[in-house]
Amino acid sequence: MSSQLQSIEVRVEGYRDVWVYCEHEEGKLTRATTEVIAGARKVAEKVGMKVVGVLMGYNLDDLLMEPIYYGADKVIYCDDQRLKDYQVLPYTTVLSEMILELKPWALLFVTSEIGKDLGPRVAYRTKTGLAADVIDLIVEDFVMNLPTGRYIYKDCIAQVRPDFATRIAKIFTPKHRPQISSVRPGNFTPLPRDERRSGDVVRWEPRFNDDDFQVEILETRKLPKSDVMLEEANVVISLGLGILRDASGRPRDPREAYRMAEELKRVVEEKFGVKVEIGSSRALIYAQLKELEGLITKDRQVGQTGKTIAPDVYIALGISGALQHRVGMQRSKKIVAVNIDPGAPIFQIAHYCVVGDLYDVLPRLIDELRSI
Ligand SMILES: Cc1cc2nc3c(=O)[nH]c(=O)nc-3n(C[C@H](O)[C@H](O)[C@H](O)COP(=O)(O)OP(=O)(O)OC[C@H]3O[C@@H](n4cnc5c(N)ncnc54)[C@H](O)[C@@H]3O)c2cc1C
Repeated sequence: MSSQLQSIEVRVEGYRDVWVYCEHEEGKLTRATTEVIAGARKVAEKVGMKVVGVLMGYNLDDLLMEPIYYGADKVIYCDDQRLKDYQVLPYTTVLSEMILELKPWALLFVTSEIGKDLGPRVAYRTKTGLAADVIDLIVEDFVMNLPTGRYIYKDCIAQVRPDFATRIAKIFTPKHRPQISSVRPGNFTPLPRDERRSGDVVRWEPRFNDDDFQVEILETRKLPKSDVMLEEANVVISLGLGILRDASGRPRDPREAYRMAEELKRVVEEKFGVKVEIGSSRALIYAQLKELEGLITKDRQVGQTGKTIAPDVYIALGISGALQHRVGMQRSKKIVAVNIDPGAPIFQIAHYCVVGDLYDVLPRLIDELRSI
């Protein structure tokens, strides 16, 4: 049926370049921003466009070249005292005006508090779409078969994200520009910072709406940072719901498994001089076990709604490997999985598959490492 349809190529003309909204803290680009610049490069090179870093704030002089050093070709910046602290309304106004006038082809945010706040408002004001929580960006044609023909929207961005169930979804914005995404941290590797890179730096004069400043910021306070640094660990040992029972089905005190994971952490740190952290599946955190209170906390969650990490070694203990977990750890260099079920999905991506009871395997692994 579809082969009889007339093919019609559609290109949305008049839009250029891949913009990255650059977040900064204490005079530095955030790491996640440098990752998104790398993702933008991948897309821009494919379609022969430039990467443009967008900087907003106050007293930005020392930052202006940073997006370029990390891979952008150009910077557009808006430096204004009224933008000193992030506030959604004035930031939305300034960024939307820039977009409506300069017409970028794509705009990428980090999936962060700011990206999640600002991105959708900007998409609404500029009458385009937004794909949130994206884990990859691929340039592809989007094909729509209609009774009037087979419409091929050329060179769109397939914005890849985990679906709500067990699939990977590709989201397209075929008819509108810019194509806006928020990109989850941990999915692109930043390009090395290179001060020899050069590019244009262009100032943008802001225009505000009368009602943009309805909020007066009296004080800003930093929230205490979690000391769980999953993203920086060389080795992550993660626990899942499998710690609740042994292979015979006998209930086990989950503190036993936690203590063994801590022991493994200690031995690996001592023997190899590397940084090790304990992670968790969401199911174990959501189980809110009294025994693990204060030990298995939300900041240890790996996965779609937790952290995305790529350590040298990821050890999954009693974790089934649901898609939402895998998207947070599948870029790990080596994956070791211990599971009693030989059909557990985690084994599809593990480099070392141990079919067995973690209550059996873990003490033996610790002994083995101790004896090295
Ligand atoms: C929108 C959405 C977002 C989500 N985000 C996340 C996320 O960010 N991170 C995340 O992890 N999940 C997330 N989930 C949940 C996810 O779908 C799974 O439910 C969850 O990952 C399962 O956790 P688990 O592997 O610990 O538990 P289970 O799926 O119950 O797996 C337990 C595993 O342990 C094995 N086992 C049992 N006993 C033993 C033993 N003694 N020794 C060895 N193995 C044993 C079993 O064979 C089983 O494979 C999300 C779900 C949704 C819908």
